[in-house]
Amino acid sequence: MAKVVSVNGDRFVELITERRIKAKVKQLARRISRDCRGTVPVFIGILNGSVIFFSDLIRELTIDCEIDFLKLSSYGDAKISTGNVRLLKELNCQVEGRDIIVVEDIVDTGLSIDYIRHLIEPQNPRSLRVVTLLYKKDAVRPGTKVDYTGFSIPSDFVIGYGLDYTQRKRNLKSVYRLQAKPVRTGTRM
Ligand code: 5GP
Repeated sequence: MAKVVSVNGDRFVELITERRIKAKVKQLARRISRDCRGTVPVFIGILNGSVIFFSDLIRELTIDCEIDFLKLSSYGDAKISTGNVRLLKELNCQVEGRDIIVVEDIVDTGLSIDYIRHLIEPQNPRSLRVVTLLYKKDAVRPGTKVDYTGFSIPSDFVIGYGLDYTQRKRNLKSVYRLQAKPVRTGTRM
């Protein structure tokens, strides 16, 4: 039986188990370590959602790294994107000449990633890559570039492993998908 959690009357069903996430994080860290061998990249976590993925990922790396964080406005308490991205916390690190790896929890429309690229590219990094644990393949705007993807998922709203709903449930160990409410087609006589 799939695990279920309820938040504010909404039901969420387990989509990606803790075991699959752990295996995927190790695999991503291995690939990034191999691709960045001989360099000391700066990993930039996007607050708040990526903190859990971020801390698991960097501890699986076999290369040295530095870290920093950016905070963008997100969904607020809603389940769909507002379409607006605002910067709430700037970078503190020196970007010029460095290898930058942006760490996202999820790419939905791709607006945030496009915003981040436009923020970082003018600061002349040596390279700029993006890793995301989750990727909503049907929602992403054409042209959004992601270098490393954990799981491609449907466009449903998800929570857990850093992702919230009204700021709650970030501490779930696996990822859960919102279950659609059954549509009532009429009253049975
Ligand atoms: P985008 O700019 O790609 O549309 O959205 C990226 C951000 O929106 C993510 O970093 C995350 O904060 C939020 N987001 C997108 N999809 C979901 C989702 O299914 N669940 C939650 N909790 N946040 C999401």
